[in-house]
This record gives sequence, C-alpha cells and structure tokens, in this order.
Amino acid sequence: MNDTIFGKIINKEIPAEIVYEDDISIAFKDVNPQAPIHILIIPKKLIDMPQNITDEDDNLVGHLFSVASKIAKKLNITNGYRLVMNNGQDAGQSVLHVHLHMLAGRKLTWPPG
Ligand code: AMP
Repeated sequence: MNDTIFGKIINKEIPAEIVYEDDISIAFKDVNPQAPIHILIIPKKLIDMPQNITDEDDNLVGHLFSVASKIAKKLNITNGYRLVMNNGQDAGQSVLHVHLHMLAGRKLTWPPG
C-alpha cells in the first residue's frame, strides 16, 4: 500500500517532475527546493521511516544511492552533491515514505541547521 503523497506520485495519481524511474525506485524534483537541484529518490516499496529499514531492504536502500550516482551523471552534476535522509520529528521528516534528498547546484554549509 502506498498511501502517502509519494505513493500518489508512484501511482501517477498526482504529477511530479520525474527525473528517473525503474522497477523499484523513482526520483522526482522536490516541490520546495532547498538548492538549485533538489531531487527526492524513493523506493516504490513503502517503508515509512529510515528507522524501520530492515536487513531485507539492504539491496533496495543501496539502490537509492546508485540511482543518485546515475542522476548526477545524467544532470552533469560535477561539483558535488549532498544525500540526506531525515528520520522522525527532530530531523524534520514530513512525509512517511523513506526518501533520499539529493541537493546540488550551490555550496552547501556544514553542519546543516
Ligand atoms: P522530509 O521533510 O525529509 O520528509 O522531506 C519531504 C520533502 O517532500 C520536502 O522537501 C517537500 O518539499 C517534498 N514534497 C512534499 N510534497 C511533494 C510533492 N507533491 N512533490 C515533490 N516534493 C514534495
């Protein structure tokens, strides 16, 4: 079951600017970008929070990172990028469907706020 806003994007029930898709993942532009390039890479399988990722998801979650690498090549991101996964309230997770933020196109500060 995919009953979050991201589930609706997976099912093409609401529009998104999709930059990559395969059988197990989809990546699309964030509607509220925090950098010139801000993409969300998500598994099609619903896992609500990173804390609920289990051993059986190892390949799936690893895949999100290789997708990021593919997107970097596709979009010609040569100056670096940041990959972030928020978990829970204090980290500001607002959508309960695991997602990897990919931020690029500007100098990013560290530590994040
Ligand atoms: P997080 O706060 O880590 O849960 O990230 C959720 C992200 O999803 C935020 O950066 C939102 O801007 C983004 N977002 C929410 N709804 C949509 C949508 N319909 N299409 C694209 N991005 C979205």
